[in-house]
This record gives sequence, C-alpha cells and structure tokens, in this order.
Amino acid sequence: MNIQLDRNLSEKYNSKSQRVRVITENWMFRNMYCPRCGFARIEQFKNNKPVADFFCSNCDNEYELKSKSGKLGNKITDGAYGTMIERIISNNNPDFFFLTYSEKEHKVNDLILILKHFFVPDIIEKRNPLSSNARRAGWVGCNILIDEIPEQGRISIISRGEISDSETVVSKVNRGSSLEVGNINSRGWLMDILNCVNRIQSQVFTLKEVYAFEEELKIKHPDNNNIKPKIRQQLQFLRDKGFLEFLGSGRYRKTI
Ligand SMILES: [Zn+2]
Repeated sequence: MNIQLDRNLSEKYNSKSQRVRVITENWMFRNMYCPRCGFARIEQFKNNKPVADFFCSNCDNEYELKSKSGKLGNKITDGAYGTMIERIISNNNPDFFFLTYSEKEHKVNDLILILKHFFVPDIIEKRNPLSSNARRAGWVGCNILIDEIPEQGRISIISRGEISDSETVVSKVNRGSSLEVGNINSRGWLMDILNCVNRIQSQVFTLKEVYAFEEELKIKHPDNNNIKPKIRQQLQFLRDKGFLEFLGSGRYRKTI
C-alpha cells in the first residue's frame, strides 16, 4: 500500500468533485485489499451503481467510498437523509469506506471502514433543508456521526498516514462482523449497550456500572420500561459472541 495519490488522472475533469472521485477511486483500486476476506484487490463497478462503488470478486462483499480533503472529524456529510434511513431499515447498506486526503501533499491521511450492520438510524443526523433559493430547494441531506459508532464497527486502515497491517484489519473486521444483527431494533440496542460498555474504562466492570446508563437509555427509548432486563440481555449476547466474560456476582471482563 502506498498513500500517494495520482493527481495526473484528474486533468480532463473540470469539476472538483469529479476529480476527487476519479483520483480516490483509482487509489482504492490500486491499493486496497478486501478487508472482509483479505483478497488482494477490490473491483470497481463499471456502471455507476446507485449504492456501491466497489466489490470483492472473492467474497462478493460490496463497498461504498466517500472521500474528503482534510481531517477525519466526527461526522461525514452524505446524501439524502430519507434514502439513507430507508437503506438502513431495509438492510441495504454496503460497507462504507471513508477516506481523507491532503490536498497539498496528494496523500491519503485516513482511511476507515464502517461495517454495514453498525449503521442504525441513531448515527444519522438530519441536516437543515436547502433554502428556497437553492436549485434543489427543500432537499434534506444527512451526516453520519462517526463518533456514535462503536469502535468495533469503525476500523482504521490508515491513520494520519500510518498504514495498519492488513491481517490485523481483517481480523478486526471479522470480529466486528460477528456482531451482525438483522433486526433494526435489536441492532439499535446492541449498539447502545456496546457504546456504554466501551465508555467504561476498566477491563473488569460490574452490572451496576452499566445500569448507571439507565437514565440515558431511557431518554433514547422512552417507550421501553424494561431497560435493566434489556441491558442484561445485550450483555449476554456480547458474552455469547466472545466479547465479554461473566466472572460471577455481577462482574464482567472485556475480552477485546
Ligand atoms: Zn472479499
């Protein structure tokens, strides 16, 4: 993997967004392996597919690429809000690559992969509708709140120009994908509890420490009067998936 972008490719394009697209897509095609199965390359879809940009010819997984110049930040500006929510609810999202680059140095700064089943409506922020003067007046876009995604589903491939080892990336992806939950409500709960557990600093923690998030969870799920049982259920799921160990007497250990 080489973080240098090929800027010569963009000469025939006038629009900046097209230039960025061509340069970053070409870079991905030349440098990126399939983070799901470890296959040496990913292929580009020939005709602009509305959702995905790349696929793996070995495991058939699909990927979307979004790029921007500058720093990673904590949100990614994306397309139409309604379309995004629809895609999440219908489980129609591909895995999502997010790439940032330095315009000055023509180098990749950061590349992260967000696993598709970590997308829940909670991580999608509605932007204000475009003003009546705009060409697409009333159109509502969205932001993806990267910070709200549990770290298990947000895997760094390049961080500030430092390239992670591909085997480590593939193993993190496999680990994260073992938390795949189809049902959108159950998925939301899993993400919530995973975020709570991730916020507890120590490796060993108590059920009481997770119960401390009850009020916060109640605000997110006002119709649910059984927050505590829900917490225990999700902790059990995390234990069954090998992310937690039960030590007895309401104590748990993180195994990751
Ligand atoms: Zn693959």
